[in-house]
Amino acid sequence: MQFHNQGYVSADPRIQNVNGVGIDRPAELPENVDVLIVGTGPAGMIAAAQLSQFAGITTRIVERRPERLAIGQADGIQARSVETFQAFGFAERIIAEAYRITEMAFWKPDAQDASRIVRTARAVDDPTGISEFPHLIVNQARVLDYFAEVMKNAPTRMTPDYGFDFVGLTVASDGDYPVAVTLRTSEGRERIVNARYVLGADGARSAVRQSIGCTMDGDQAFHAWGVMDALAVTDFPDIRTKCAIQSGSGGNILLIPREGGYLFRMYVDLGEVSPEDHGAVRSTTVEQIIAKANEILHPYVLDVKNVPWHSVYEVAHRLTDRFDNLLPHEIGTRTPRVFIAGDACHTHSAKAGQGMNVSMQDGFNLGWKLGAVLDGRSPESLLGTYSAERQVIAKNLIDFDKQWSTLMATRPEDLADPSELEDFYVRTAEFPAGFMTQYPPSMLIGDATHQHLAAGFPLGKRFKSAPVVRVADANPVQLGHHHRADGRWRLYAYADAAGPGEASALSDWAEWLRTSADSPLLAYTPAGADSDSIFDVKVIYQQAHDQVDIARVPPLFLPRTGPFELIDYELVYAADPAADIFDLREIDRGGAVVVVRPDQYVAHILPLTATAELAAFFRAILLDRRPPAS
Ligand code: FAD
Repeated sequence: MQFHNQGYVSADPRIQNVNGVGIDRPAELPENVDVLIVGTGPAGMIAAAQLSQFAGITTRIVERRPERLAIGQADGIQARSVETFQAFGFAERIIAEAYRITEMAFWKPDAQDASRIVRTARAVDDPTGISEFPHLIVNQARVLDYFAEVMKNAPTRMTPDYGFDFVGLTVASDGDYPVAVTLRTSEGRERIVNARYVLGADGARSAVRQSIGCTMDGDQAFHAWGVMDALAVTDFPDIRTKCAIQSGSGGNILLIPREGGYLFRMYVDLGEVSPEDHGAVRSTTVEQIIAKANEILHPYVLDVKNVPWHSVYEVAHRLTDRFDNLLPHEIGTRTPRVFIAGDACHTHSAKAGQGMNVSMQDGFNLGWKLGAVLDGRSPESLLGTYSAERQVIAKNLIDFDKQWSTLMATRPEDLADPSELEDFYVRTAEFPAGFMTQYPPSMLIGDATHQHLAAGFPLGKRFKSAPVVRVADANPVQLGHHHRADGRWRLYAYADAAGPGEASALSDWAEWLRTSADSPLLAYTPAGADSDSIFDVKVIYQQAHDQVDIARVPPLFLPRTGPFELIDYELVYAADPAADIFDLREIDRGGAVVVVRPDQYVAHILPLTATAELAAFFRAILLDRRPPAS
């Protein structure tokens, strides 16, 4: 963590200096806002936390509940989400309080006596080491608390506005604040808030979605689960291990141990629900859920002492046709003004633990784009990439979840192969961990011509961190962990074989970026702003850290920033001889440039000599901030 660069900090360094719209932020909802977010679930809160980092942007997030979510809803946190939390600065703290999944056990009917269940397999949760971060279980409410803290500590000092129900909206064809949103207070009073952009993160029954005429397509048949968070005494030996349990009677349970060492969650399958049921399944009582659980667990017994939360959770696999208010024929001709994210766009079963995770990636994807456009960094055309990128991801998720939930609900004797369920779990591990997302070439993802220069950083996938040594203080660190959710682009320059001070492709590249009239750094950094305000540029040398003379590193990598023009020493890295990043990520020894988006996805890979291509790539994404030549 870096601080003191604006002057001495004696309090919690996570609390940033108040700035911009955070100074005298009105307690009441203002009449006009840049972004209005509806719903304080994971999708809305991450988008708000991202936008809160932009000091000049007025974002408000409204919620119909009178206060924070206290209990219930989702709890599975993929490693990809923990990586994301690292960017928001709270990964370590949430890991410390969470339950960590290392293994999953599979229980099935005993072949000798189908009325009993026996453990038939165990599968390691992350067999390939796909991330340095763990797979966690922690309540959705805590995730939302951390995002609320990030917002509150941001320069804009954002807090959610509770007790406002979204009623409807209209979008005008012009004007500074073209979206007029009607809200109703808890006292029944209606008021209008005008916004430049609106994000509907208002869950599966989204009223924002309805207001822009999006339809949800998908299954008509619903599947119901009795879900309970329970404190119980049991002789079931795997109560502290994640389990898929299939009984001889056809019932099944997904058991999720919870944070804190005692609590666990059980999803008890209540089966398919026909549309004629008209919600009757929702009257299933907690006693019925407990009785069903005991039936499935036989011969083991669950003596439930306390159920702090339970719900009957009904889901269909459903997906919206689009994630914004533009009709297909309007794409490219108008700017989208209203977006939807999370459950408002896609619903599916809870069994693969995806709901909260995918919703957060929706919000992260849109948050930095809105920030870039409203801050004057990027053209409005950037906003069209949100629906284009995320709709496909949601479709893939629903396809995956259909397979997984069908397999889980299949009676063991009906499976083609007795180990089909656990084989599928291991084979597809990358998907539920959140790492299958790969955005195709677009204005934000370059073509694959030079992919071979850094084969371990697949274009369009998230930047997979690796260990390096920080040269200035010989600290072993993870390169990716320096990437904060601050809306900046990352340029990682992997050096060619020469060391600092020697003539090299790296030193030519660094000088070009620092001084050339074509340099994106000069074109897109506003006059008077710190040179690292749009791009965070790092170098990684092939030599061990004690072979890198920091005094001879190109000045590009030692920028002077802040009111005292202090030198940032945390941009110069060396390969760790024990785990060389050049080998781990298959980086060409002739060097390479890896461009990473603000949401951590690999955007482009280029040779150090391809300066014209690098400049051309950013031309569509960023706006020239240089004063016009006189
Ligand atoms: P949500 O978390 O649903 O957040 C939407 C927010 O918008 C809510 O705070 C809501 O109060 C607010 N809102 C809605 N309408 C309005 C309005 N008109 N005006 C203002 N505010 C509004 N997933 C799992 O993986 N496992 C589970 O066990 C599980 N259980 C669930 C149980 C319940 C009862 C629910 C509702 C969801 C559950 N989910 C579960 C799903 C999971 O919580 C979601 O996938 C995830 O929360 C999606 O995040 P989101 O931000 O899109 O929406």
